[in-house]
Amino acid sequence: MPSILCMVDDKHVPLYRVMWVSAVPHFCGSEDCMCEGLYEVRLEEEESVWARRDERDSLLAALEQWQGGLGVEEDEWD
Ligand SMILES: [Zn+2]
Repeated sequence: MPSILCMVDDKHVPLYRVMWVSAVPHFCGSEDCMCEGLYEVRLEEEESVWARRDERDSLLAALEQWQGGLGVEEDEWD
C-alpha cells in the first residue's frame, strides 16, 4: 500500500493536502530569498512548502499513484 505521506523539506506532507506543485523552480530576484531554485508545493489554507527537484519528482510520482488508487476505490457499495 503506497504511503499517503510524502517527505518535502523535512516535513511529512499528506498527499491530500497538496493543491498544486510548481512546474518550474522559484525565482523572484530577491537577494534574501530562501526558496530560490526550489519548487513550490501549495497546500491547503494558503500554506506552502518548498521542495528540491528530487523531492518534487517523488511527490509527483506519489500523487499520480495516489490518484490512481483513488479511482479504483470509487463508491461501488451502494
Ligand atoms: Zn523568492
